[in-house]
Amino acid sequence: MTTPTREPDGPALVPGELRGYRQFELRPDGLYPLVQAGSGPWDGQLERARCATGGDHAAPAGGCRCGLYAWYRPGAATVAIGPVSAVVAARGRCVLGDRGFRAAEARIEAVTLPLAMRIYPGTAARTRRMLAERYPDTRVYPTARQMLRDYPPQDVRELGIDPPGDRSRGYRVAVVAVLVTVVVCTGALAAMPGYAIAYGFAGWWPLLVLFTIAWQAGLVWLVARLLSLQGPPVKGPP
Ligand SMILES: [Zn+2]
Repeated sequence: MTTPTREPDGPALVPGELRGYRQFELRPDGLYPLVQAGSGPWDGQLERARCATGGDHAAPAGGCRCGLYAWYRPGAATVAIGPVSAVVAARGRCVLGDRGFRAAEARIEAVTLPLAMRIYPGTAARTRRMLAERYPDTRVYPTARQMLRDYPPQDVRELGIDPPGDRSRGYRVAVVAVLVTVVVCTGALAAMPGYAIAYGFAGWWPLLVLFTIAWQAGLVWLVARLLSLQGPPVKGPP
């Protein structure tokens, strides 16, 4: 890949393909973008951007939010909760940001099935059949770790960009820490004899209720933060 032209307000021209990470909503008939899902599922071969805000210009445009977005680094885009994580290869005109880009065209190189699919093998098999039919060139992985081993992030420093570190890592560690704490506490309570719980906690059950509310609120907040990191870049060029 050669050095692209980069203008402060206009799109940059990126020759070759630019690798990115993003998520899709998995529906029975295809992979839908998380925003503007009304535009339908992505094309199985090559998705072309259209300005969904009604702008009279080719997407992406510098002052608009249109274009097919993706992040340079996996980070929150490959969190196993929620939608499908994917690797995309973008081409054509791109608006380059510090963390991600918006492109004119992109194809889905690989996807990771959501965590819930591991619990429902029937659904996983149905999904794999649909993906094989509609996205024949897309590789399907059971885990993001395996997908990232085959599709590691590109070094975009040659584009003059040095993406900041993964902000989702701290949140992911915190989610695991909260869950482990709750499992350990619940396990300890379950192991105690009933009368011990009845007498021991009689005095400070309000604290127990408060603790339960706090950890649930904390978990909801952490998951919300993680999901918010998965969305598209919101301001002009990402
Ligand atoms: Zn636009």
